[in-house]
Amino acid sequence: MPFKTFCLTVLFTGLFLTGIQAQDIQIDRVEPPFWWTGMEDQGLQLLVYGHNIGLTSPLILQKEVSITSFTRVSNPNYLFIDLQISSQVKPLNFRIDFLYGDSVLISGSYELKARRTGSAERKGFNASDVIYLLMPDRFANGDTANDSAEGMSEKCNRSDPDGRHGGDLQGVRDHLDYLPELGVTALWMNPFLENNNPQYSYHGYAITDFYRTDPRLGTNEMFVSLVAECHKKGLKVIMDQILNHASIHHRFMQDPPDESWIHTYPEFTRSNFRASAIMDPYASGYDRDRMLNGWFDRHMPDLNQHDPLLLKYLIQNSIWWIEYADLDGIRLDTQPYPDKEATAEWSSAIFREYPNFNIVGEAWMQQESMTAYFQKGTQNPDGYDSGIPTVTDFPLYYALNRSFNEKDGWSQGLARIYLVRAQDYLYGNPANKLLFCDNHDLNRFYSSIGKDLDQFKMGMTYILTSTGIPMIYYGTEILMTGFESQGHGFIRTDFPGGWPGDSLNCFLDGGRTRDQQDAFLYMQKLLTWRNMQPVIHSGKMIQFIPEDGIYTYFRIHEEATVMVIFNNNDQEKLVPTARFAECMKECSSALNPLTGEHITDIGMIKVPAKSATILELH
Ligand code: CA
Repeated sequence: MPFKTFCLTVLFTGLFLTGIQAQDIQIDRVEPPFWWTGMEDQGLQLLVYGHNIGLTSPLILQKEVSITSFTRVSNPNYLFIDLQISSQVKPLNFRIDFLYGDSVLISGSYELKARRTGSAERKGFNASDVIYLLMPDRFANGDTANDSAEGMSEKCNRSDPDGRHGGDLQGVRDHLDYLPELGVTALWMNPFLENNNPQYSYHGYAITDFYRTDPRLGTNEMFVSLVAECHKKGLKVIMDQILNHASIHHRFMQDPPDESWIHTYPEFTRSNFRASAIMDPYASGYDRDRMLNGWFDRHMPDLNQHDPLLLKYLIQNSIWWIEYADLDGIRLDTQPYPDKEATAEWSSAIFREYPNFNIVGEAWMQQESMTAYFQKGTQNPDGYDSGIPTVTDFPLYYALNRSFNEKDGWSQGLARIYLVRAQDYLYGNPANKLLFCDNHDLNRFYSSIGKDLDQFKMGMTYILTSTGIPMIYYGTEILMTGFESQGHGFIRTDFPGGWPGDSLNCFLDGGRTRDQQDAFLYMQKLLTWRNMQPVIHSGKMIQFIPEDGIYTYFRIHEEATVMVIFNNNDQEKLVPTARFAECMKECSSALNPLTGEHITDIGMIKVPAKSATILELH
């Protein structure tokens, strides 16, 4: 975004001071582009970028705003100014003069806006929500005119699985009713910020501008109005943010402030992607450094969060987006990869401004203990606390993708799920784990389970009835397929009906195949029911060790008791319920909320082959 609110006036005073003239100084941008009055933290650090701006000294005469310090770095095109903003200040524009010697060479004005009412009290997402994850380039193309925006190097090519397909924020807006119709309550989009990269730019994880919406997806103003529209429809919005890396085409790489901002190597050095090196008591320094400081990919250089100026930049960027766009949550990409103390400082700064907010960290680990390490409140032996309230539950994902395909045994089949949950004692807050069967980096769930509709329903039922915050990946509800091994483009295909001229339109009842409609209606019914059930949102969970391919758990909250029975057998089963007495108590009948069936004798419950049965006990 060209810098709008920082108005520049170059003062041609005819100065000539040791070779520096007004016309030798330039300001291209100031970040954050504006800020707010009444923030909890009264400090603000401005990054001023422009030719030789670092040779000047800043001066502010506004009495409510003072300069506490300013920092020059090795690159003269950057100047960092630390401000102290009075808690009494009203929204205003104030002037900053940039001096060389005693002479003002260039000036600008900076805006402090009024905060939204109740901004600090905003509530984040929680287990009463169901999150819908979509990739904006692949969901719906609402504006074909922006498919190949001017100034963006990669142009639209829908025939290339790894190319840009033209989806955008307008497309999401056009289909916004589909989300509440399905029954989800929160929207998480993969990153929508500018990714001006020659290829693979569609996924959004190689950012070239932390303050600008990619013009192929829309504008900052469109994103803000999309959030407002979501809020009107009762949907929360979670923004995907990245602390670990940026694009190699970002200004921080093309014209770095200081060599300390990026971890550099004589030759390309990739992360070993082994987050175990972070908590392993025997880890070598070599492995830990490779994990944390190696590049995520050739085009994604590793940011050094140890640099205090960079960390401040990232912290303020996150807070700016929360305040500017009115966000309900953040999804933190690659949580284990940035410096862990920096992540804790980042989350602490966010919760200082927004104590009731929520952040979900992508902690992609196979093991429960190592996943738990990254959640807020976990008692780690080294005392580390990330401050991130929600973490992704990959161990459960792995279990859900194997259990229903397997013959049950001591630790196989449904026991996999049972054992993952038994290890919830490790977590700071197990009710805050993010549960999912697939996402944008994983095999599509329907492919993973061999396109078996019964297993599909079992997986969905598990994440939507057990303890945690469920997440549905776009298209899972209409049985979209794809294996990660084919390439990431194949697990991120276009939602059918999102593009003008699509032969199928899965946004509509009549546009789905019979199986797709079956899956969609199942999800819709289950989600609609779940949204009304405090017992699922916050009830305690009691699980019973799987026996003979039957796994049962209960959710209990005040007077409500819900029983969920999984039958992993290929035959219908009669389940004796005597061993569940501690949960069933004096209940004598049950209602299946999905089928409407009343069961008057719950001493022995009949469950179909390969199924999950939900029962409200009365
Ligand atoms: Ca478009």
